Amino acid sequence: MDYQFVFIANVIANLACSAIGFLYMYGVVRHMEKHKQTAARYFMLFFLLAGLGYLALVIRNWTPAIYSVVINNGIYLLIFHFLALGVLSWYRIRISCWHLALVVVHVLGLMALQGWLHLTVENSFNLRTYIAFLNISAVLLSMLLVCWRHRATNRTGERIITLTLLLDIVAVSVPSITVCFYTPSNPYIFMEAVMVSQIIINSLTLGALLSLFLFDQIGLHYEKSIRDELSGLHNRRYFGNQLRQLFEAGSPAGAVALIDIDHFKKINDEYGHDVGDRVIRNIARMIAGVSVDGVISGRYGGEEFILYLPYGDEVGRILENLRAEIATCSLPSEPAAMPVTASLGYAPIRSEDHLEEVIKRADIALYKAKRVGRNCVVIG
Ligand code: GH3
Ligand code: MG
Ligand code: MG
Repeated sequence: MDYQFVFIANVIANLACSAIGFLYMYGVVRHMEKHKQTAARYFMLFFLLAGLGYLALVIRNWTPAIYSVVINNGIYLLIFHFLALGVLSWYRIRISCWHLALVVVHVLGLMALQGWLHLTVENSFNLRTYIAFLNISAVLLSMLLVCWRHRATNRTGERIITLTLLLDIVAVSVPSITVCFYTPSNPYIFMEAVMVSQIIINSLTLGALLSLFLFDQIGLHYEKSIRDELSGLHNRRYFGNQLRQLFEAGSPAGAVALIDIDHFKKINDEYGHDVGDRVIRNIARMIAGVSVDGVISGRYGGEEFILYLPYGDEVGRILENLRAEIATCSLPSEPAAMPVTASLGYAPIRSEDHLEEVIKRADIALYKAKRVGRNCVVIG
């Protein structure tokens, strides 16, 4: 049977995978943090070399065997080292000169060993296939180990990479398994095994690396969409969504509090907006400090913050402590000594309440706090 078309289709599929991967990495590399840029560059090399490696395999029929043995072994090991270097960079692991030297020694060592076996040991084909498999698997396994050590912080993209590395090891074993069970009566059986292995590795790794960057960007944009840039707290929309979910699940226990910085306009006028921004950041840090154990907090507006506290009687005490902590904030003594204080109003949630009603009562309480002289906590 003539497999010519299947063979050509395979060449095109592999080259297309490599080209897409390379161009994608080239496209994303400029818009990332430093360590991700480094990772993308190594992944570019991975795809570039995967394409070249495939071409090298195609031309092996027209070159003296020793060249293709040495070059193919070198290229394939280097491909996986580039993948490994990319994964390490992704995890912010610094790549030292020693590490790069080790890669060079490993690649040259394998090329020399395989060339030597080819020239000196008769019927060394199977042995050379196993040696290539063991070396590549060792690199893939070390990557797996790195992914496993970071499993606590791994997100979807990193989990897909971990699974892909595992499947890559299985795919890399295909030529070894083939030569183990099929004595090469058919000289093309090994070529076919390598093609199967390559298309699996190339397409799986392409998908995994695209997902890695894509999920990372989705995560970053989601995080941006729910956070207020200046204070680092959640924004009003996120707070509203979280609270609405709680109310939809049944009337939650606890209270909603509104916090408003006193005479903030004056602070801006006296000290400038940058000092005003610093005050917002400081107070946000204090609010983040109480945002534990189910507390939801957010920046509600300019110099207003909102809190949901899932507590009963302790709410008053917690808010009083927060008020006192805010009052310890200091401003520069020039041009005028001014205290930083905040007024707080809160409303315990009643069983029949809607979210809007609770916030309204907290707002009325805050208004009362302003009226009775500010720098105090009022229950609504
Ligand atoms: P009160 O004690 O009654 O709350 O008085 P106030 O001056 O704090 O309230 P007012 O609503 O009059 O002024 C709020 C000011 O907050 C006005 C606005 O310029 C300022 N502001 C809002 N957002 C920001 C911000 O992100 N940074 C800075 N520096 N100022 C902001
Ligand atoms: Mg205000
Ligand atoms: Mg204010």
